[in-house]
This record gives sequence, structure tokens and C-alpha cells, in this order.
Amino acid sequence: MNMLIRNGRIIDPANKRDEVGDLFIDDGKITDGSQLSTLNSQPDEIDATNLIVAPGLIDLHVHLREPGFAWKETIESGARAAAAGGFTTIVCMPNTSPASDSPATITWIRRAAERACVNVLPSGAISKGLMGEELAPIGSLKQAGVVAITDDGRCIQNNELMRRAIEYARMVGVPVLDHCQDYNLVGNGVVHEGYWSTLLGLPGWPRTGEEVIVMRNILLADCCDHHVHCQHVSAAGSVRLLREARRRGVKISGEVCPHHIALTDDAIQDFDTNCKMNPPLRAKEDVATLLEGIADGTIEILCSDHAPHAQFEKEVEFDAAPFGIVGLETELGLFLDLLVHKNKTIELPRLIEMFTVNPARLLQIEAGTLSLGRAADITLIDPDLEWTVDASKFQSMSRNTPFDGWKLKGRAVRTIVGGKTVWAL
Ligand SMILES: [Zn+2]
Repeated sequence: MNMLIRNGRIIDPANKRDEVGDLFIDDGKITDGSQLSTLNSQPDEIDATNLIVAPGLIDLHVHLREPGFAWKETIESGARAAAAGGFTTIVCMPNTSPASDSPATITWIRRAAERACVNVLPSGAISKGLMGEELAPIGSLKQAGVVAITDDGRCIQNNELMRRAIEYARMVGVPVLDHCQDYNLVGNGVVHEGYWSTLLGLPGWPRTGEEVIVMRNILLADCCDHHVHCQHVSAAGSVRLLREARRRGVKISGEVCPHHIALTDDAIQDFDTNCKMNPPLRAKEDVATLLEGIADGTIEILCSDHAPHAQFEKEVEFDAAPFGIVGLETELGLFLDLLVHKNKTIELPRLIEMFTVNPARLLQIEAGTLSLGRAADITLIDPDLEWTVDASKFQSMSRNTPFDGWKLKGRAVRTIVGGKTVWAL
């Protein structure tokens, strides 16, 4: 099957390419068009005038809820949500049931992923059952096909265990991703510790609870000389710590989710459980520092932390509601709108880089570029398209979003995986 994407602005940061041109796809791969297969030489043409032609976007932090929680999301529905958001590759988190801490579960996920419309790559647990007590079989997990290890949703408190995990991960060649949360400091906190937690009488989740673990991870990444990636960075101090450590060459990095820059903790004042996530929405100064970190390259990866929950689970008192919001279908629109259009934090090529070559490099996967011969995973983006978020139309099985009804500028209009259109607006 051939395809010709005509007259788009091709942005391929891995190859430092940014120019208007045509892109050829032959037999599921990117080609230069000189040797389109003769059997089927009349290619499907797509007019990409005024569109961005980007490498298929990667989201390295999503919860697909299978096995175990298929009433929230399945691997197939989560993949459809990813396609609708412009993502061709997603990495699913191990807080499933059973937890993704054994080769058998990883194999089960990879089999289920064969039916998904985008590339679904599993991550494996760091500790057995995500209990933080005993290491999971990291070598066997890697052999079973994980691209990273993480206890996301939970955080290993024992620094010696974490050190050993990082050393094993270095030996087998996978990065360590970490959800940064000190349980003693955070306690039963549900919202940012500050004005609103005090006023509303809700238990506070202080910045320090994140920053302490970011610091721990910097020290261990340095000590073990291996890459540790801090997930969903929310606190100003975390950005400062990462900046200083990265300048010294420590193998440490961080990612930011759209909700942590789109909203602050004042969004919780009417107890909307769709504003309850972990880590929590922070204060204005945190948002400002996250934006600075994105602008100066301290933060090099963007992701959703897509965390679907059924409506009945979120329709309870704030304290009792589960953490998390869906994100795959609003993520690109929010980041384009906020980072590129409104705040002018970064320009388009940088945004594409943060969604493609940067996560691909961290995970060491063959994705995130339009190099000749690579799988034709491509996202077409209309950066100026104005649209309104309508949660009732989500491909995801869940609707738990605080962004329903938001007017955004910019979204993906077509998602191509292996040369096949899997979603189009
Ligand atoms: Zn997390």
C-alpha cells in the first residue's frame, strides 16, 4: 500500500528537518518516493497543505487498566483514544491486576496489544506487586519485552532497594521511571498543601513530598551512573533540582503533564473530583516554574498520565475518589494551546521533539523519526484548528476530565501507524 502526503510542513527533529515537502510511504515504511513498489504504483494522496507532518507522537505514561480493571479502559479502547489524540506509540504502566511484575503478565499485555490500533509497549514493575519490598525479576521482564521499569502509582521508599533496582536496570539496559512521592511527608494528602487545602479542610500533599524523592533519584542516578526519569513533575523545587543535576551531567530527566500547567489548586474549590490527581494540581508559582523548565530544556518530555476511571468511582466525596484523569485525547490540544499559542513557551519543532525523539531516546526504541526505511508512524497536526473538547465523544471508555467544554487551538487531524490511517478527524 502506497501513500503520498503532499505539501505539508515536515518537522522531524531527529533529523533536524523543518521544511514544506512531500512524504512517501511504501509498504508501511517511509521512502524517498523513487522506488514506489511497481505493483501498486498509484499512491493514495493526502493533501497536507497548512498541516504539520510529524513523526508519530509517543506518550510514555498511560494507564490502560488491563489486565484487571477493564471497566475503566481496555488496551484496545486506550489505543483508540491514543490514535484520536495523535499518538502512535504509548507505554502502559504496571499498576494492573495482577501487577505487571512477571514475564507472564507482560506476555499477556503484548498479545492483547497486537489487537490495538497503535503501538502499545509495556513497562514492568520495579517491585513485586508494586509493594516496594522485594525486586521484581527485572532481567526476565526485559526479556519479556518491557521498555522501562517503574512502580508508577506507587513509589519505592527504601533507598537501598531503589539503588539495586537502578543497578539491575543498568545491567539489562532499561531506564527507570519513578513516581516521586515520600509517603511519610505526604501521608493521606489529597490536594496541594496550601491555601485551598487549609480553607477546604482537605489533607495537604506538600511539594516537599515530591522534591525529596526527586533529590533521592538524582543522587542514585549519579551513584549508579544510570538513567532515572521523574514522572509527572509538579513542584517548582523539582524543576530547580533537575536543572542543577542535569547541568552536572547526571542521567536524570523529567516529564510534565498538561493538567499541571493548565490548572492550579484553586480548581478544587467546588470539590470537583475530576481535579483530583496524584501529584495534585499545584500553585501559580509551580506552574510558572514548570513553564520555565520546559522553555530552558530542563523538562524534555511531555506526557498525559492518562488515568481512566468510571463515573461511579469519581462520583464520591473528594477524599474517597480515586486519583487521576483521562488525558490522551486532550493532551496535544492543551499543550499546543498553552505552550505554543498562549504562553509562547516553546515553538512547534520543540513541542514535536518533546513528543518524539526525546521519549524514543530515553526508551531506546525505534520510533519518533521520519528517517527513510523506518515504520511509517506519522501524525498530521493542524496547529491552528480551533475546537471544543467534548468528553461524550471520547474514544476512551472513561470521561473523567476537567477539560470538557474547553476551547483549544491545535489538534491532530490524522494518525497513521505502519502506513495505515488508524484515525482521522
Ligand atoms: Zn504516577
